Amino acid sequence: MDEQTNQPDVSTSYVGSIAPHGGTLVNRRLRGDMAASTREMAQNLKTILLSPMNVSDLELIAIGALSPLTGFMGQADYRSVVNDMHLMNGLPWTIPVTLPVDTGVADGIEIGESVALAEPTADGGMHLMGVIEVSEKYTYDKEIEAEKVYRTTEDKHPGVARVYRQGDVLLAGDIWVFDLPNAARTDFPELRHTPAQTRRLFAQSGWRRIVAFQTRNPIHRAHEYIQKTALEIVDGLFLHPLVGETKADDIPADVRIESYQAILRDYYPADRVLLGVFPAAMRYAGPREAVFHAIARKNYGCTHFIVGRDHAGVAGYYGTYDAHYIFDEFDDAAIDITPLFFDHAFYCKKCGGIVSAKTCPHDKSNWIHLSGTQVREMLERGEMLPAEFTRPEVSKVLIEGMRRKKLEG
Ligand SMILES: [Zn+2]
Repeated sequence: MDEQTNQPDVSTSYVGSIAPHGGTLVNRRLRGDMAASTREMAQNLKTILLSPMNVSDLELIAIGALSPLTGFMGQADYRSVVNDMHLMNGLPWTIPVTLPVDTGVADGIEIGESVALAEPTADGGMHLMGVIEVSEKYTYDKEIEAEKVYRTTEDKHPGVARVYRQGDVLLAGDIWVFDLPNAARTDFPELRHTPAQTRRLFAQSGWRRIVAFQTRNPIHRAHEYIQKTALEIVDGLFLHPLVGETKADDIPADVRIESYQAILRDYYPADRVLLGVFPAAMRYAGPREAVFHAIARKNYGCTHFIVGRDHAGVAGYYGTYDAHYIFDEFDDAAIDITPLFFDHAFYCKKCGGIVSAKTCPHDKSNWIHLSGTQVREMLERGEMLPAEFTRPEVSKVLIEGMRRKKLEG
């Protein structure tokens, strides 16, 4: 790899109406003999056991979802991303994608050394997935990363807490993956389309304009309204829920996926919607993560991206529209994917339908609104949510999911 240009050695040619970020769809997966020989070599290397987020990052890099990244970031890119929201090559990039390790681990690794990357398995063992060719190791200022990326240094913020918890040294280098994480085989394998696959699927469907919807929540009527409003002006909707690590109190991915399938079946045109899963972990970095989510979806071949209110936010750390405003800080052509900004939507009794603060002239007393806490409490009591708020098919799946979760303890 050429360090100056960050160009990958290997890439897949891409189809679709929008170029990947940086122009090349990265492919760091090894196949066949190369995979077998690298796997064999990896067994004799030092091994780093990855965190759930790094397992997700490794998969995303390998399949090209984070193009043009070909590995974990070096210091120059890291600093440029944290301070200026761009990679050294000038491309917009808002989230550091790094491999933190403890100082003791870093001390035992030489620059230029290949190190195996593994995930822990349920039985206490480990699963080797790939290798990193370590090109740099460097220290970093966690408070600066917190302040710049998360806009807070408080450790109550789940993303900041993770940064404070992680190792003090960052390893950089290109990665090669011979085996995707176990989750790729066990968690929704039929929905885990790679960017190369979604681009082919969109082309086969004849979709030229595709809007992506990122979510870590069930789809209430307000989300359905936003998705369908966007779908009115494009050819296809890519419903792309995130299934990597989230906060413990977010609704588990399997319950969410079941609820998506329940409404897609009855309320969405099958030939205009693709459901896939996004194997990323949540960072809760709000505005910066909105840009990161948009760029990843561009790599999947989407031309438009829905940015709702408080996108990727948590516990009031970001202003309602901060994730909209941040796009103004970039050159539209460099971002390329078109963000579609949506306001808060809700059912208004006077309007007699789902509307938003932008389109309804009526008083709040006419709006059917439930807070996240109210929703959770009703579902825990086994109560259906109002049909104007959530379709009964979705309520049923969520109530059943809550009940199962409680049984599992
Ligand atoms: Zn109204």
